Amino acid sequence: MEKIGFIGLGNMGMPMSKNLVEDGYDVLGHDLNKDALTQFEEAGGKTANSGGEVAANCDVVFTSLPSSKAAEAVYLGEDGLISHSHKDIVLVDTSTVAPEMNEKIAKAATEKGIAFLAAPVSGGVIGAVNRTLTFMVGGSEEVFKQVLPLINALGTDCFHVGETIDSGTTVKLINNLLIGFYTAGVSEALQLANKKDIDLDKLFDMLNVSYGQSRIYERNYKTYIANNDYEPGFTISLLLKDLGFALDLAKQQDLNLPISEQLVSLYTETEKEGYGPKDMAVLYEKVKAQGKT
Ligand code: NAD
Repeated sequence: MEKIGFIGLGNMGMPMSKNLVEDGYDVLGHDLNKDALTQFEEAGGKTANSGGEVAANCDVVFTSLPSSKAAEAVYLGEDGLISHSHKDIVLVDTSTVAPEMNEKIAKAATEKGIAFLAAPVSGGVIGAVNRTLTFMVGGSEEVFKQVLPLINALGTDCFHVGETIDSGTTVKLINNLLIGFYTAGVSEALQLANKKDIDLDKLFDMLNVSYGQSRIYERNYKTYIANNDYEPGFTISLLLKDLGFALDLAKQQDLNLPISEQLVSLYTETEKEGYGPKDMAVLYEKVKAQGKT
């Protein structure tokens, strides 16, 4: 059985790596956060002190990191994945990072003859826990097929988008642009229900069978708004990161997306007001507080 590495044991990486342990794989985890390492060991995983140690000892390494900067450190750093990889390894980045970072890592990997896939995911923490993630994978189809059994163990819908390394990321950024819009729409529309004393549970049941329904409305309302609990989940800061990547990508294509720019301003303001570490559904509370003034 292949030996698997997992770097970035956060909200997404922890459940994904635990699922691989549960499947009987020998999984070597690494994270900067010591508590995450302890939690992973308690779940039966083994831990390493660096990305380099993971690369040297594994056949396939997954990463789930919060930013392009973190991905750069983990893949291209002195004690990182690329410099310590052997030629048969496959590296799979499930993080959402800038398309340019996909390209930078792919270039370094190719120079060393190492296989690398940029494989962002959708489906949230619930999807990571329940193995129902959607994978959008850019890179070699041959390599994709090689690791498909592992990816299928983590998600239900695993797409090879194209040979271009950032093709999966492009799809993921389109997805998250829509998530940003849906979250903003739900946050504002529900305020009207509040002002007119419409019961939000009943509203949900009615809209759930109407065209106003969306998976984001269901997720944001049922898991967060209805419980008045905004522990992430998917934070405002992570969403803002992805919206920024989407707008940068649009600019690079000479594409003007004025409504999306307004959306970015809204989330930037929300982050500045201190909501950054909360789940994105918290936008509802910000809009609610605004409506009161
Ligand atoms: P997170 O912040 O909860 O987890 C990231 C983990 O990476 C943390 O444990 C952190 O300590 C670790 N880390 C950071 N820098 C590191 C380094 N240099 N070396 C080792 N470990 C390092 O983030 P998350 O919510 O799990 O998201 C991870 C990625 O998945 C992001 O790119 C995000 O956009 C994407 N994503 C998240 C969700 C979601 O719902 N949370 C959904 C889909 C995609």
